[in-house]
Amino acid sequence: MAERSYDFLMPSVNFFGPGVISRIGDRAKMLGMKKPVIVTDKFLEGLKDGAVEQTLDSLKAAGVDYVVYNNVEPNPKIRNIKEVKKLYEESGADSIITVGGGSAHDTGKGAGIILTNGDDITKLAGIETLDKALPPLIAVNTTAGTGSELTRHAVITNEETHLKFVVVSWRNIPLVSFNDPTLMLDVPKGLTAATGMDAFVQAVEPYVSVDHNPITDSQCVEAIKLIETSLREAVANGHNLDARTKMVEAEMLAGMAFNNANLGYVHAMAHQLGGQYNAPHGVCCALLLPYVEEYNIIACPDRFAQLAEIMGENTEGLSTRDAAELAIKAMKQLSEDVGIPHSIKEIGAKPEDFELMAENALKDGNAFSNPRKGTKEDIIKIFQAAYDAE
Ligand code: NAD
Repeated sequence: MAERSYDFLMPSVNFFGPGVISRIGDRAKMLGMKKPVIVTDKFLEGLKDGAVEQTLDSLKAAGVDYVVYNNVEPNPKIRNIKEVKKLYEESGADSIITVGGGSAHDTGKGAGIILTNGDDITKLAGIETLDKALPPLIAVNTTAGTGSELTRHAVITNEETHLKFVVVSWRNIPLVSFNDPTLMLDVPKGLTAATGMDAFVQAVEPYVSVDHNPITDSQCVEAIKLIETSLREAVANGHNLDARTKMVEAEMLAGMAFNNANLGYVHAMAHQLGGQYNAPHGVCCALLLPYVEEYNIIACPDRFAQLAEIMGENTEGLSTRDAAELAIKAMKQLSEDVGIPHSIKEIGAKPEDFELMAENALKDGNAFSNPRKGTKEDIIKIFQAAYDAE
């Protein structure tokens, strides 16, 4: 076996399962939180008996004071993290609790970063750039999902340049995450599909990444199997608690996998679509996935042939290449079954933007772990294939 060494990051404490949200007040108190800023959006804040209401009830019961920031935007912007920082300082807060999906968690992480590491977050884009600890952070997750509640990534959009960038640091990992599937029962079909496909891509990309290892492999395999058997069910009937629970397990496994084995061109390119057209992240990932992986096959055909089997395809008697192609077909079928659109045209992509987006994708931190090393022209061709798809 080849010699290898790597840092393996695990989230510290994770509460999982129906009803765990009721324990957040006690846990906040245990961490010494006296006045957290609750980072969320207006929709979630207004949900009767939703994640925010249940979080606040539990904090009140534990005697923990709080202040609410309710202006998180999808693909969170620099202005959001600055607003949270201002509220944190003006209200005398001492910690942060994010309630929502990836956008809420990344807003909370981004605010934490500029509270302790300096005001200009664009200078901190990249890997392990943070010198100082963030304020104590708890993440209550409501989508399955990005994995952001337990990852070291903070994905922020610069609203002036439309560039989405990532600050990757072990210091971003929340101290505690809550994944309570009962908070996800009313997630609408489209959002269930988009976030579920994000989790799927976050299991596929680390599986074929140059940084994969036996620990991340086992996480990816289990995540893919869970998604293959439960995403369609969660989309078909959101109140299927078993399917929701399996999707949470899958997104946590995928989050742990990519926290360590990293991602690839799907994410590097999806960040360009998200930044440029403010499109939902999971949809961007799902639309690009088959075209990026078709391009990647020659780098590691065996891994793709294994993916076909993991997805439940019968590869008996097939050549490695044909089995690998079957994996791409199965990915397209999953997207189709959960109602993802077919072409990046449908989210507003324009061919005249491909050149600049390709240049920026190759600079995105996720590009470096992709199994095949591409040129700008290769990336433009992949954008074009995802655009021409019918
Ligand atoms: P999101 O957080 O942007 O939320 C999308 C919408 O869903 C919001 O309007 C929100 O109000 C709504 N919503 C959330 N939970 C809900 C619930 N339980 N019921 C009903 N509606 C609900 O969506 P997301 O896909 O979770 O996050 C996407 C963001 O996360 C992107 O910016 C992406 O780049 C980022 N991301 C981060 C990481 C990371 O590790 N930091 C990983 C992948 C993606």
